[in-house]
Amino acid sequence: MAKTTNRQRGVRTTAIHAGEGIDPTTRASSPNLVMSSTFAPSEVAGFSARNRDNYDGYVYARVSNPTVRQLEDKLAALEGAQSCQCYASGMAASSALLLGRLSQGDHLVISDTNYVGTAELVRDSLPRFGIEVTPVDMSDLDMVERAVTPRTRMLWVETPANPIMRLADIAALSRLARAKGVRDVAVDSTFASPIATRPLDFGADFVVHSLTKYIGGHGDAMGGAVLGRKDDLDALNLEATVHYGGVLSPFNAWLILRGAATLPIRMRAHEETALAVAKFLEGHGKVKRVFYPGLASHPQHELARRQMKNFSGMMTFQVEDGPALARRMVDRLEIVHYAVSLGHHRSLVYCIPTDALMRSTFRHQGELLERYRNFAGDGVFRFSVGIEDAEDICADLDEVL
Ligand SMILES: *Cc1c(COP(=O)(O)O)cnc(C)c1O
Repeated sequence: MAKTTNRQRGVRTTAIHAGEGIDPTTRASSPNLVMSSTFAPSEVAGFSARNRDNYDGYVYARVSNPTVRQLEDKLAALEGAQSCQCYASGMAASSALLLGRLSQGDHLVISDTNYVGTAELVRDSLPRFGIEVTPVDMSDLDMVERAVTPRTRMLWVETPANPIMRLADIAALSRLARAKGVRDVAVDSTFASPIATRPLDFGADFVVHSLTKYIGGHGDAMGGAVLGRKDDLDALNLEATVHYGGVLSPFNAWLILRGAATLPIRMRAHEETALAVAKFLEGHGKVKRVFYPGLASHPQHELARRQMKNFSGMMTFQVEDGPALARRMVDRLEIVHYAVSLGHHRSLVYCIPTDALMRSTFRHQGELLERYRNFAGDGVFRFSVGIEDAEDICADLDEVL
């Protein structure tokens, strides 16, 4: 039989075949769904997950499960990572990494603008455990450098940043972290997906994904993942996965495996549709501004071209009276759903007023607030462009604008 395993496989082949294989017993072609929570080991193994050094089979599903393992292997191949751990949600993955790596007295430098759940966790919960947190504009290397102290253990980057589409230069931030002795660079790459950006290739140590978004891609399963070096992920498994317990259900892993197989072709369609919709919005009289990394008008378009192989389907736009448009959207949109979340095959839009988000979550003042407003004004519509026909999406929006 011809062996092709030494060839570097293309991303479409990887998305379909990595982590999967014909079942040796049944010869099933597609992945098995194994719901069993316990497994009967073939030898007498230790009781704690800490002392099974000589047994690497499955024992208990909170430690590892064969369906989840298939997804982890697929995601590791797509990200070019040694190892992957899946979690019950993107937030379970983020909290596992933050709590699993940071201790009392450590300092975290984090993007001042990022997913609201992460922003609230680091601002309101981490300080309770004696972890100091400094939010900075990650697109400004000088500001990041000024924030780093000898106790800084982690830089937490999100690019493109939810919800304003501001980018951060992963390679430059990783170099800065190395030079300053910061141990971990973690990148929430949910908006980009591994098809657009592989943060580890740019020098990051960890990648975080909400699998609920592009990777699952169909809006029917929550999940999260952390990817990185094998020794780091093994340690995170023993601490964060086994003890915090936020593991991915095998059923969700099975759904996400199916979604991930089409990730490369969906991302291509998202980008193609988003570019057409972004141009339509940019030319629309009622739209004040559009921020899409694939448009030359994005203030960091050059960085986007260097760091993103695909501009993905996420954008924001601004209008004169956001709340009034949001109301019309709820009542009248027929194709685009007025709903949170993103990265699904169907289009989703949501209004995010700046003042309300500052009160609930970011609490920026002075310079940081001004910088946020440079991207978001009084508020944005965060638009996750799906893979419907661009003309239908534009007609739906035109009717409410
Ligand atoms: C949605 C999201 C998360 C959280 O993921 P869940 O699966 O909803 O817990 C984290 N980061 C980003 C960038 C997200 O968009």
